[in-house]
Amino acid sequence: MIMVYCEQRNGELLNVGPELVGKAVELSKDFDGNVTAVICGHKINHLAELLIHYGASRVIVIEHPLLEKYNVDAYTEALYQVVKSENPEILLVGATLTGRELGPKLAARLKTGLTADCTNLEIDSDSKLLLMTRPAFGGNLMATIICPDNRPQMATTRPGVFPMPQSDSQRRGEIILFTPRLSEEDIRIKVEKIIQKIRKHKDITAEKVLVAGGRGVGSKENFELLEELAELLGGGIAGSRAAVDEGWLPKDLQVGQTGKVVRPKLYIAVGISGAIQHLAGMQESEYIIAINKDPEAPIMKVADLAIVGDWKPIVRRLIQQLKQTMNIQEEKIS
Ligand SMILES: Cc1cc2nc3c(=O)[nH]c(=O)nc-3n(C[C@H](O)[C@H](O)[C@H](O)COP(=O)(O)OP(=O)(O)OC[C@H]3O[C@@H](n4cnc5c(N)ncnc54)[C@H](O)[C@@H]3O)c2cc1C
Repeated sequence: MIMVYCEQRNGELLNVGPELVGKAVELSKDFDGNVTAVICGHKINHLAELLIHYGASRVIVIEHPLLEKYNVDAYTEALYQVVKSENPEILLVGATLTGRELGPKLAARLKTGLTADCTNLEIDSDSKLLLMTRPAFGGNLMATIICPDNRPQMATTRPGVFPMPQSDSQRRGEIILFTPRLSEEDIRIKVEKIIQKIRKHKDITAEKVLVAGGRGVGSKENFELLEELAELLGGGIAGSRAAVDEGWLPKDLQVGQTGKVVRPKLYIAVGISGAIQHLAGMQESEYIIAINKDPEAPIMKVADLAIVGDWKPIVRRLIQQLKQTMNIQEEKIS
């Protein structure tokens, strides 16, 4: 059986859970077809059915007042009890901020291995082992890792790596309530206060259109032009690590291996060379436009439309034409 831990925050499912359920359904064809999703918290029963609609055959709801807020001690203990009683072959966890903490701690408790930040998961047709692929040596090669001797085989995958499966409200499955044995003494960390981070930008993984800038954009001020283009297209801005390192963009707008994985309908890469670590975060986008003065830049090879030239006049022209098409009366763009 394949088990997927599906994270919820304040009673809402994070997308990475259903994404992993979708992948698990695909992988389970090599097993018994059974995908068990696990959710953990307090008063979260309403999420169980959603996971069945996304393809889980069973959902285990771990319910306890001490699980109301995420706490690594309580969540590890609760999940440990479920995994021990269910003995899954495979356990998948979303590589979110909390998943990156919970996954390895749980793996250590279970005395098994974990491959972090996988970019692909497959089943070996002969050995039936999980093949966990992830970048290694700074992204210069892809390593496929197996866990032959210990169970479960554990992997984490970042949000957006796998597509969101179709939800089908007709799908039926089993919902099991699990009450873990937990007491205050199990919890060494006391969460006193949770402060919500106020973001200026929307989560880039949720944007349908992204205008991403790289070092070639040249300055923080120049990003205003990209913002304008993004706004006209109803999307947001993002960038390469070089742009983030320069201090032109906040880290949560970084796309790539150490940033976020995005798959918008349209990705416009402006002044981005297309290093392998950047491509890892955006090459699943539906349509890619690259604007670069170097026709040999690797981004041009993954682009559906490659525009060779200095980005500024090209972007200005695009803005101007979009405004004309949309009938927006604006100041002259110089
Ligand atoms: C372990 C590791 C993890 C990494 N993770 C990430 C990651 O998550 N995301 C990421 O993006 N990178 C990541 N990197 C860095 C990555 O290797 C590249 O260094 C980075 O992506 C380069 O950013 P860039 O394309 O903006 O800059 P550059 O490579 O410097 O490219 C700038 C591009 O702009 C073009 N250009 C310049 N001027 C103009 C102009 N006027 N008009 C049009 N085009 C112009 C140039 O031709 C060039 O192609 C990682 C590296 C390592 C080792």
